[in-house]
Amino acid sequence: MKRLLKGGHVVDPVHGIDGVADILIEGGLVAGVGPNLEAGGDVQVVNVPAGFVVCPGFVDMHVHLRDPGQEHKETVATGAAAAAAGGFTAVACMPNTDPVNDDASVTRAILEKAAAAGLVRVYPIGAVSKGMKGEQLAEIADLRAAGCVAISDDGRPVPTAILMRRALEYAGMFDLPVIDHCEEPSLKGEGVVHEGYVASVLGLRGIPAAAEAVMVDRDIALAEMTGSAVHIAHLSTRQALRSVRAAKARGARVTCEVAPHHFTLTDERLTGPVEYDTNLKMNPPLRERVDVDALLQGLQDGTVDAIATDHAPHQADEKHVEFDRAPFGIIGLETAVPLTLDRLFHPGVITMRRLVQLLSVNPARILNVTGGTLRPGRPADITILAPEVSQTVDLSRSRSRSRNSPFNGWTLKGAVAATIVGGRTIYVNDQVAGAANLAGDVAVA
Ligand SMILES: [Zn+2]
Repeated sequence: MKRLLKGGHVVDPVHGIDGVADILIEGGLVAGVGPNLEAGGDVQVVNVPAGFVVCPGFVDMHVHLRDPGQEHKETVATGAAAAAAGGFTAVACMPNTDPVNDDASVTRAILEKAAAAGLVRVYPIGAVSKGMKGEQLAEIADLRAAGCVAISDDGRPVPTAILMRRALEYAGMFDLPVIDHCEEPSLKGEGVVHEGYVASVLGLRGIPAAAEAVMVDRDIALAEMTGSAVHIAHLSTRQALRSVRAAKARGARVTCEVAPHHFTLTDERLTGPVEYDTNLKMNPPLRERVDVDALLQGLQDGTVDAIATDHAPHQADEKHVEFDRAPFGIIGLETAVPLTLDRLFHPGVITMRRLVQLLSVNPARILNVTGGTLRPGRPADITILAPEVSQTVDLSRSRSRSRNSPFNGWTLKGAVAATIVGGRTIYVNDQVAGAANLAGDVAVA
């Protein structure tokens, strides 16, 4: 069965399209893109409502699916459902599960669960070190052969420069990026929030911006020395951004991502309306206004390559403890795209073309996975947006198994209308007028 998506505003920077066009889908692949494509006899025509934007599928290169080991927080299936509802056609999941994904058998088990869920593409990220202990390198060749697309000890930094050097050298032979959670452990200490005025006022221990900057500088130096690619996870400070900008100008193989909470919130939020809200505790912590302004600049000028959620589910009882004891992290799969539209696109910080680069083109390129363009012959992974539709975040409707988000009740302008993977509609947003048109063969409603 062929499907023809008719009349949407297609934005595909790689393919050079930014205008009204039709997309013909056949056998799960894009068969054609262009104005007024002919619908033959056996074609299911799907009319895309006026004002909707049709993009190459979004790729979230940083999620924690908690499966295996902490399925009460999230499973591959519930995480995949949340990703679909958030407009993502693919996610890359971090290895800090239990057991750690430092072994091909764990990688294969994750891929089997993802296939059984049958929703978004799931790309496992293998561990840098065995057990993520920061001592011995994991079997990187085996992990890659089993399907890992990158290596990372995220949740923790790669603790020593020599291990990071070896990881870059070894992963570089397979052209796998090393993704680092940049935070110098001795500077982080027992910190729980950004070190600064707000931490002092609230009497909470701080994590200095330099903890990130020191590690980013180390990793850039090692990437330049080895010639391998390093990707900085959840970059949050102006100092680190400055280092990445300078390194890129020198031609270093460094890329970075920013999480929506870091371009939306500052640590001021910790002072109210809800004081000591543990849904504002994440690692790296919320920073200061000057940092947020620097991130906005980096998102605009291309220093920042990707927007990634760092989706980190925790159950309510785990977060419902005193601030110092609560785990770090918030969920983000279903709020990332609305926050990006509301906070970056509508105020004019970024164009729609840049938005597609940040959410699709660049993460697909960094991970070297399919996607990032609707060029004919490629899998029909498509995200459809309703940029003018406002929606209020309602966590009770979340597909995630966890609810730890500071954005409940926020009204954001810009919604995901539908998500299509391999030509099959896996999500339609029943809150968006006209989105039902996009259904076809819906697997999750
Ligand atoms: Zn991290």
